[in-house]
Amino acid sequence: MHEFDEPLALSCHEDITSRPQWRDGLDPTEHRLQQILGDYEFPKALEWACGLSTCRQIHQRGFLVRTEDGLETHIGNVCGVKHFHLVSWEAERSRYRRAKEDAELRLYLEQALAERDTLAAQARGRIQALEGLVQQLREVLERLARDPDVHRVFMEALRAGGAIRKARTLSEEEADSRGLPPGRRTFTETVAQLEGMSAVQMVARPGAQQRPWLPSAILLGQLREMLNSTLLRFTRERLAATRVKDRPALSAEIRQVRETLAGAATSVEDAQRFLAPENLYKLSLLDLRHVSGRAGKVLNHFARLAQPPGPGD
Ligand SMILES: [Zn+2]
Repeated sequence: MHEFDEPLALSCHEDITSRPQWRDGLDPTEHRLQQILGDYEFPKALEWACGLSTCRQIHQRGFLVRTEDGLETHIGNVCGVKHFHLVSWEAERSRYRRAKEDAELRLYLEQALAERDTLAAQARGRIQALEGLVQQLREVLERLARDPDVHRVFMEALRAGGAIRKARTLSEEEADSRGLPPGRRTFTETVAQLEGMSAVQMVARPGAQQRPWLPSAILLGQLREMLNSTLLRFTRERLAATRVKDRPALSAEIRQVRETLAGAATSVEDAQRFLAPENLYKLSLLDLRHVSGRAGKVLNHFARLAQPPGPGD
């Protein structure tokens, strides 16, 4: 058996013939074949003769090989199987691909292990940030739900991607100046656009009552789970004990951790944008046909979040 030092990408004759030690027409009894350096599969147009002077078989699939005296040549798949006692060119090629993939996985996992503490610290930081933000988002939703009319109009805004719309009737002068007939003087316009709407989504199951939900709350649960079940259990001992066949699953787990961490960063930003006072203020503009005392209280709470104009404004 032999091992590949490094993967060689061989896609044309030039990749092989440009190598300084390459020779064509080597006699394998004078230059004993020692090691396979890579494999190739050329299209029909690039088929060529085996580099062994004793063979010269025209072929498309073969190997680049090194001899004991340091020269290189290319040999067809039949010569490869014979000289290196292989099962087949295909089997050798897939063994080579698997070895290459496994080397990449091992490298990925080694690097991830070196970063483990940083990743865990990131996860803890984002868990803490999200805990606070989810709590604040829930308080806003609970306040909006105190009045059924406010809740209903807020759901309309959610459905409209955060657009808060208001019915407006033009004054006679305005309507006349635009040449609008009496029947078209009332219309709906967007008076504000809520930001950070990815933070608050809507459950819209047919037949079910529509209600808002918080993707950040789901993400928070996933982050906690990942910190405990993946990151904190990802140790040098565990990596050493992970068998080759289990490495892809472990790598996928680590990749998932990174994706979730990135998702959590975005989620924190969305929630912060939604919870900014100038954004929450827009909720006071929700357009109710009739404002009950209870609804007025809810809307006033948000109206008070408006920044008072500073001196000089
Ligand atoms: Zn040959």
